[in-house]
Amino acid sequence: MEYVNVILPLALPQLLTYAVPEDFSGKVLPGMRVEVEVGRKYYRALVYSLQDEAPQGFVVKPLRHVIDLMPVVTAKQLELWKWIASYYMCTMGEVMTAALPNGLRTTYKPRTETFVRLHESVQHDALLEKTLNTLKRAKKQEKLLLDFLDLTNGVTDATVPKKILMHSYGASVATFNACVEKRIFEVEQREVGRLDRSAVATKNMPVLSAAQQTAYEEIKEQWHAKDVVLLHGVTASGKTEIYASLMAAELERGRQVLYLVPEIALTTQLIGRLQQLFGNIVGVYHSKYSDEERVEIYTMTGANNTSPPASPPLQIIVGARSAVLLPFAKLGLVIVDEEHEASFKQLDPAPRYHARDTAIMLAAQHGAKVLLGTATPAVETYYNAKSGKFGLVTLPERFHPVPLPAIEVIDSISMRKKKRMNGLFSQPLLTAIGEALEKKEQVILFQNRRGFSPFVQCAECGHIPQCKHCSVSLTYHKQQHALVCHYCGYTERLQGHCGECGSANIQTKGFGTEKIEEELQQYFPDARLARLDLDTTRAKHAYRRIIHDFETGQKDILIGTQMVTKGLDFGRVSLVGILNADNLLNFPDFRAHERSFQLLTQVSGRAGRKERRGRVLIQTAQPHNPVIHFVQQYDYHACFNLQLIERHEFAFPPYVRLIGVNMKHTNEAVLQQAAALFKEHAGAALGHRLLGPFPPAVPRIQRKFILSFWIRAGRQDNLPEVKKMLGQHFEQLRAHQGWSGLEFAADVDPV
Ligand code: ADP
Ligand code: ZN
Ligand code: ZN
Repeated sequence: MEYVNVILPLALPQLLTYAVPEDFSGKVLPGMRVEVEVGRKYYRALVYSLQDEAPQGFVVKPLRHVIDLMPVVTAKQLELWKWIASYYMCTMGEVMTAALPNGLRTTYKPRTETFVRLHESVQHDALLEKTLNTLKRAKKQEKLLLDFLDLTNGVTDATVPKKILMHSYGASVATFNACVEKRIFEVEQREVGRLDRSAVATKNMPVLSAAQQTAYEEIKEQWHAKDVVLLHGVTASGKTEIYASLMAAELERGRQVLYLVPEIALTTQLIGRLQQLFGNIVGVYHSKYSDEERVEIYTMTGANNTSPPASPPLQIIVGARSAVLLPFAKLGLVIVDEEHEASFKQLDPAPRYHARDTAIMLAAQHGAKVLLGTATPAVETYYNAKSGKFGLVTLPERFHPVPLPAIEVIDSISMRKKKRMNGLFSQPLLTAIGEALEKKEQVILFQNRRGFSPFVQCAECGHIPQCKHCSVSLTYHKQQHALVCHYCGYTERLQGHCGECGSANIQTKGFGTEKIEEELQQYFPDARLARLDLDTTRAKHAYRRIIHDFETGQKDILIGTQMVTKGLDFGRVSLVGILNADNLLNFPDFRAHERSFQLLTQVSGRAGRKERRGRVLIQTAQPHNPVIHFVQQYDYHACFNLQLIERHEFAFPPYVRLIGVNMKHTNEAVLQQAAALFKEHAGAALGHRLLGPFPPAVPRIQRKFILSFWIRAGRQDNLPEVKKMLGQHFEQLRAHQGWSGLEFAADVDPV
């Protein structure tokens, strides 16, 4: 008898075992999908492993059905899933849900299209002639047959998509059907891809500058000794061109390349550049694609290629986070661009994995090399490079001989005192914008808050509307005329009067991108403004539109959140303005300064990339903050060194490993009791390594109260043991009478 251990799309801590019925004996392999019964429900599950011995202690049910003839998940993927589940403290089911496109978990319908060809009986020239003669009195049918021959250039055994035949000449369905009836045409359904595979390579590989060539060779050299190399290159140094050359070399060896980017905003420009170089072997994988499209990319990346034969397999996959979970057949190289970006880490739901670190594991499985690229390496990454774990190659100059932008710091407090501050705009910033517009140059403005204003307040009683489900104030969105919770999406209409005292004197407070857009338009009525943030990019192609319009000079000023900081390459931007650096600097997190340095440097890097030197204005109430100084001086090393001193002093990564634990429950009293018990039990083993419980910055989200803990493990601690022990405590607490609603979210290596 055979048995299979299967992964279910449920948050079960363990795999379930089923017996393989006679009919399927020998036909079930790891990585195949099967249908099984749990409780009284049927689920699609994935076979993880096989075993011969019957499990003890319970009655084994037979599996109901085997869905696949070939595995849809490779052995390497299963191995990686296992690593993710144990390292990031989640279940295999959660990893599977993240890894498999929905279409593979439920029902995927291939797209088919109708093709038309001449019926066999008329394919002979003589017979065709005869047929045409018989159609003398059926003019419409005669015309349709001639149209067909027109489309095929007279080739009688060619096929034509039905919709092309019908649309080009405007034939009616009745005429077409009559031709099929008379056995002039025959039709055939064919599976076609949904992906646009029409890209053709039109450009030659860029010729690398001397500095780029040296970096390129150094990277290859260092890969002899190290699997991971960090390319530390200033903004606009031409890292992308180095990546392209490395990719070309890898393709020549017949191996695939995974190119990870932090967000899709980056990809529209990048994909274009890569398709011009490599044509239709470039595939894009991200969450804004439909499920069907994702299934196709998934299959075309994999070894068991069942894609339509006309399309060549994908050799370069560009994707955000989850692309690291694709079934690569022969991976040779992973590039992680902007490796410092926090969005490589998944926050919710589990698996809370870091795509960069997971990519390093993935590459090791394939014997592939990894290149991490950025102008502002994450502290941990640079630490790994400095300590010799990773290789390190630097590219200190820009490709075009333009110096890095001049960065000026504007003291917003003293400006305000001198009455030179209009709302969020200082006089010097307004002047600089005016000058840039005058010269027909473009401007990027950065503000890390979307919406109109972060909150509204009653001027009479001071009341601030809060979310019903979360302990945060509601953000005002003017266009929707609504108050919106940025944590749970709860939305309510803005009332004309205060909910507490009834006063009509409601004031908007603070600045989001929407308000900046509105105010700016008042100062510059003729300027053409565009806004790039979560709200303006919800639709599938909205990103592309906004970036295209700015790139082609149809907009003058681009206002945006983080999204404008990432890797965009516009030639005509001469000025970058940061409206308020204080939001970043004061963020309550041990990485606030690291993040501020990265963000400010990256957004500055969007200015003056090609012709003239760019200019950056940073408005802040803390002009003497060391981070501001480091940004201004482009001094990554000084920033890094100061960070290390602080991290060492306060015991933060890279000197310790962190695990965050959020405990949640709808009942606050239950939560507090459970947290106290956890503190007592886990604390007995962990001692001072367990910090908490404490309420997080937003202590209630979607009706659930939250308490947090930190586990701070030293280098000598056995981390796998610690994680196992934590997992056991979670189980025990959940098993407690009446506490089954308790949720635990463990965040390993939080960012
Ligand atoms: P980075 O990724 O380091 O910020 P990019 O790769 O975007 O920089 O390069 C900056 C600009 O310089 C881009 O417009 C790019 O096309 C151009 N560039 C870089 N290297 C080359 C090269 N070897 N040949 C031609 N143009 C280049
Ligand atoms: Zn009021
Ligand atoms: Zn909410």
